[in-house]
Amino acid sequence: MLLDNHGRQTTYLRLAVTDRCNLRCRYCMPEEGIEFAKRQELLTFEEIIFLCEVLSDLGVNKVRLTGGEPLSRKSLPQLVKSLGNIFPKMAMTTNGILLPPVLDELVGYGLNHYNLSLDTLREDRFFEITRRDDFAGTKRALDELLAKGIKTKINVVVLKGTNDDELGDFVALTQENKVDIRFIEAMPFNDDDGNHHLYLSHQEMLGRIQERFPNIERFSDEANSSSVAYRVPGFKGQVGIIPAFSRSLCGSCNRLRLTPKGTMLNCLYSTKGLELLPLLRSGIGREDLADLITEFVKGKHKTGHDTQRLEQQGSVFASMTSIGG
Ligand code: SAM
Ligand code: SF4
Repeated sequence: MLLDNHGRQTTYLRLAVTDRCNLRCRYCMPEEGIEFAKRQELLTFEEIIFLCEVLSDLGVNKVRLTGGEPLSRKSLPQLVKSLGNIFPKMAMTTNGILLPPVLDELVGYGLNHYNLSLDTLREDRFFEITRRDDFAGTKRALDELLAKGIKTKINVVVLKGTNDDELGDFVALTQENKVDIRFIEAMPFNDDDGNHHLYLSHQEMLGRIQERFPNIERFSDEANSSSVAYRVPGFKGQVGIIPAFSRSLCGSCNRLRLTPKGTMLNCLYSTKGLELLPLLRSGIGREDLADLITEFVKGKHKTGHDTQRLEQQGSVFASMTSIGG
């Protein structure tokens, strides 16, 4: 069992399979991209599977594939098939553009929860935010997920002055659709002032939503949820706010992260991690690996604020695309 020194059990792996992406969202990546990992620097599927088997033995029961854009990793369905034999619960965070052709296959392997990133319902704004002209691609994925009745959440990073006038429109989508909207506080990455001028807090978002839906009410959170749940009475879907920057939900965190290059991280705000790639390539055995990970997780800080204060000295990850969100 993976227990940290603050009594939390780790049961959920967020697995970033690539740092490459077909979009360039302003809050996530610089326009020119980042120095992407070279092929030999990426964990291979065999290495990922070995590691996941060890994590499963240690009590991890859920994996989320993320990135970069996870679907831009070559042959991803093969990996999903193997992970489906290891973890009872599988989910993916994706911009959806490459999803429709492989959706049925992925669902067949047990990947049946999707978080689709869509920050605007307006085509012109999609380009402004993502620097790519493919609103239709993400919208196609959303329509297909909903038509097939697959569990779907829409992730909306709320950006002051850019899409904060659309909060009500997103909430309105939950009236007739069984879809959950999750508004995310922008985190500081790759911007002159670390996205701070774009930042809108949880409470500010709630205020904006209440202007249009004054009867929105607090709802019970799923266990270990990273979002605070709300709903408009009578609507089919829910609304969540993810306090990614204010970090008010660290007390129930059950997550562990793995970067494409094989760095294990205890927190989204970590900059130091356990470098697993050299260990895996030097043939470390299952028991030794399990012992190392167990020790590593024990050292997880109590909150993301502590992690930032105690770990971040100077350099931070260049982009969310290297961590997976
Ligand atoms: N490409 C996939 C996607 O966009 O869904 C998966 C990777 S992306 C890094 C994972 C999540 O992190 C997305 O929902 C994205 O909107 C969010 N994200 C990226 N940069 C962020 C930032 N600076 N602040 C808050 N959320 C961010
Ligand atoms: Fe790509 Fe996702 Fe980052 Fe947007 S948020 S640039 S889709 S990795």
